[in-house]
Amino acid sequence: MSEQLDGDFLRRYSRHIKIDQVGESGQRKLSSARVLVVGAGGLGSPALLYLAAAGVGTIGIIEFDSIELSNLQRQIIHSERGVGTSKAASAAARIAELNSTTVVKVFDRPISRENALDVIGGFDLVVDGSDNFATRYLLNDACVLAGKPYVWGSVLRFDGQVSVFGLPGGPCYRCVYPSPPEPGSVPNCADAGVFGAICGVIGSLQVSEVLKVIIGVGEVLSGRIAIFDALSARIEEVSIARDIHCPMCGDSPSITELQDYVSFCAGGTTDDTVTRSQLIGLLQSRERGDVEFTFIDIREQYELIHGQIPGSMSMPLSTFDPDALIGDVILYCQAGVRSEHLLRELKAQGFSGIKHYAGGYIDWVSR
Ligand SMILES: [Zn+2]
Repeated sequence: MSEQLDGDFLRRYSRHIKIDQVGESGQRKLSSARVLVVGAGGLGSPALLYLAAAGVGTIGIIEFDSIELSNLQRQIIHSERGVGTSKAASAAARIAELNSTTVVKVFDRPISRENALDVIGGFDLVVDGSDNFATRYLLNDACVLAGKPYVWGSVLRFDGQVSVFGLPGGPCYRCVYPSPPEPGSVPNCADAGVFGAICGVIGSLQVSEVLKVIIGVGEVLSGRIAIFDALSARIEEVSIARDIHCPMCGDSPSITELQDYVSFCAGGTTDDTVTRSQLIGLLQSRERGDVEFTFIDIREQYELIHGQIPGSMSMPLSTFDPDALIGDVILYCQAGVRSEHLLRELKAQGFSGIKHYAGGYIDWVSR
């Protein structure tokens, strides 16, 4: 490193270097570290900004979505002028402004069973900024298989949780959550809302853990889940342990390759759900006139800028009129949570012949 560059390095990171436990050697570890952030949304925004500001040398962003006006309430890496454009590109541009020495690797596509190991293989740690269970199980499993720490975070309304999985001796996500919640039982932020600043709290805690792991200081949040309640302003802690019977990280793991996480999180394929391949078959049959059904996108209007599944019609959940339904129906939304919920409601009201595409739009575009 030239004298000039070295001087810039020492000046830029002087507030880190002044901390005994970080020092110049810790800061140089950050410079050579490679961190992947999955999602440039609520958690990804603060995470990416703090990782770049901290001087992490290589940052990966995997994100396929575009910026919506409703994102700006919490997704602070983006700006008004970016609405309608790619989140991945917007985040990469902001990082370049913040720290031109950071190498940014952009993956403008959803993370999937097909690409996860390849993408993760290029990084030392993974920060989860996703908002659905299928992605969490995918990342956990891929991180265990690749031997990389998985820094998990999750937010909803006023609550946030964070933990580090997959460290030696520590649990993985499956040790704590062996099976996904009942489909439709856990609302998402689009439905239930999220207090914007909670994303800053949890995303920053995730980065704080990442930096500790890289530098090798402190007591990492492994074997513990920190739960922050913004309403009471309290952080509680739950102890968790590695399960020797865990199918992923236990003593004799039964899962040795990546799975179909959409179907896993949909509780397997039931009479109420259609898989991607079933949906493709049904749409082709309908095209030929062999079957008849209405294929309904229940996402809100503002969500449709990314596109829709061909052959579907829009009937947003907020203005959904069950009386307009005729014949057999297949519903879908972004990730399958809202469509599952609506399906249950309609069945409770006595409607029949209704199914939903459990993977939703994310699954559709991810392959
Ligand atoms: Zn495990």
